[in-house]
Amino acid sequence: MHKFNVRTSARNELIDITQKVTAQVNKSGVESGICTVYCPHTTGAITINESADPSVASDITKKLRSMIPKNENYSHAEGNSDAHIKSSLVGNTVQVIIENGALQLGTWQGIFFCEFDGPRSRNVWVKIQ
Ligand code: ZN
Repeated sequence: MHKFNVRTSARNELIDITQKVTAQVNKSGVESGICTVYCPHTTGAITINESADPSVASDITKKLRSMIPKNENYSHAEGNSDAHIKSSLVGNTVQVIIENGALQLGTWQGIFFCEFDGPRSRNVWVKIQ
């Protein structure tokens, strides 16, 4: 398993980690396989979406913020239930096919770490099989 760090700079933020995942795939030398990208945090997530236009990522965080307000009648005493809910909705894992030693992403796709309770230092785990 490979691990790398992501430094987030806002409470809600999508960070393109495609280059960091690609670096792990290159290091592995795997020509044909599966790359699993995993977020080991309960207030973060991983998703694949458009990386060409950065306003797509900001629209996603903006909509999630309006759908899931920070302050509501939540029970969780830590005060970050909105972040936990966003994490569950978006999900912890993505899998991408590796062929000819390269991640098989669509033309406009990138892999994003989703921060919902930042800024923090976060970990991403990658398993290449
Ligand atoms: Zn919490």
